[in-house]
Amino acid sequence: MDLNVLVIGGGIHGVGLLHDLATRKIEGIHLVEQARLASGTSSRTTKLVHGGLRYLERPAQWALVREALRERAFLLRNLPGLVSPLRFVLPNFKSGRPAWLVRLGLALYDQLAREGGLPKARRLTKTEVAQLAPYLRPERLEQKVGSGFLYYDAQMLDDVIVRVVAQAAIRLGATYAEQTRVEEVASAGEGFRIRLSSPLGEQVVRSRVVVNATGAWANANLLKWGCSPRIPCLLNVGSHLLLNPEAVDARPEDCAATLLQHDDRRVLFFIPWQGHWLLGTTESLLEGTPDKWECAPGDREYLLRVASRNLNLIEPARHTREFFCGIRTIPLPAAAGRLRDRSVSDAWREQPFASPWYLRTLDGDFSSLSREAVVDEAVRNLFTIYGGKFTTYRALCQQVGDQVAARLSSSVPSGTLLKENWFLDELKQVRPELFRSDPRLRQQ
Ligand SMILES: Cc1cc2nc3c(=O)[nH]c(=O)nc-3n(C[C@H](O)[C@H](O)[C@H](O)COP(=O)(O)OP(=O)(O)OC[C@H]3O[C@@H](n4cnc5c(N)ncnc54)[C@H](O)[C@@H]3O)c2cc1C
Repeated sequence: MDLNVLVIGGGIHGVGLLHDLATRKIEGIHLVEQARLASGTSSRTTKLVHGGLRYLERPAQWALVREALRERAFLLRNLPGLVSPLRFVLPNFKSGRPAWLVRLGLALYDQLAREGGLPKARRLTKTEVAQLAPYLRPERLEQKVGSGFLYYDAQMLDDVIVRVVAQAAIRLGATYAEQTRVEEVASAGEGFRIRLSSPLGEQVVRSRVVVNATGAWANANLLKWGCSPRIPCLLNVGSHLLLNPEAVDARPEDCAATLLQHDDRRVLFFIPWQGHWLLGTTESLLEGTPDKWECAPGDREYLLRVASRNLNLIEPARHTREFFCGIRTIPLPAAAGRLRDRSVSDAWREQPFASPWYLRTLDGDFSSLSREAVVDEAVRNLFTIYGGKFTTYRALCQQVGDQVAARLSSSVPSGTLLKENWFLDELKQVRPELFRSDPRLRQQ
């Protein structure tokens, strides 16, 4: 097979890029995924399509928040049923940030969202907090909460979106193969010779450009393929508890989500999701490899502790339906210079999934690290995507698409930022029931 572009990894960034390239009418584009589409981090998220309220505390991140809010509006319009508005109660804990600061933050959030299609934030009385979030522990509410705020974000069906985006790319002529792993990437003339393995056996393909969109595996793959990564990453595990409806004495669909600030100041979400309840997420350094998807030891107990301290749950341990985790890739371009130190790069080669030793000094506080994505071209025509948010996949994939198109001398611009309703036909295939129930869709 002779390709123009091989995309490696079937998470949101891989399929998003495939779709972006397909809208540019680039031919010979193919994606391979070692397991199933969305089997990596892209199905293990907190299910939020959001700007990231907490990033407002750092003005350097405002542009990222603004971009995420713009994407939130686009996804709400284009993936109805898969992305839906979500009400949030923000209890104003007496020991937490002062109410005037929270009010200012929410006003800024609304301002950055501009015409985002969602109602603006407003103040809540303590009684309203209790009505909207009846699962908050009454004694905690009584002692610790003065009042609160109501604001809006959105939530998603992450794995279904990955499939819908892949479907949209296929419709435009792209192809993909699951259960196909890239074992080797070697330079060959103007491009690359790539060895793939699948249950059917081995296969060799050639491609002019290769994009490594393998999330947490990105650097380990580069090392395996004989390329020296230039961007060190912190890999951290975020765990969630998915609880059955019986865990709360209220119907999920009648309640708002909440942002909890635990006693250690960590912020966690408690969200009604698909008739269930989702509590998360934690941040612990990855021990082991991403293949095992092992939640960090102690995270389950930590989440249950947060639950018992803040929430009025009925036997949460018994009503836990699932305990799952995803792996964040936090690129650290500022630390790239460290890799020139032989002892650091050697240690890393031996344990490519271990987080760099100097980061352990952060003592679990990763919140100060920027969550901005990085795209690196370690070898000419071999791009790697590091980090990023699900919410902003389209903007990131357009940026990578521009770089790839330039290498192929393609002058057709990306269609993904120009055209609305890209996904409706694919949605009809994947979720026909939505078209029977949502009047907005029946009009299309
Ligand atoms: C706990 C947690 C919660 C999050 N919550 C949110 C949220 O609520 N909202 C939000 O916007 N963002 C959220 N994020 C961020 C978001 O989930 C990620 O940015 C996004 O899913 C990353 O997608 P990806 O395509 O880069 O990686 P992945 O989804 O991990 O995809 C990489 C794929 O590459 C494949 N692969 C690896 N090696 C090979 C190989 N050699 N050959 C072939 N295939 C290979 C893997 O099997 C995998 O499927 C969250 C992240 C975490 C960790």
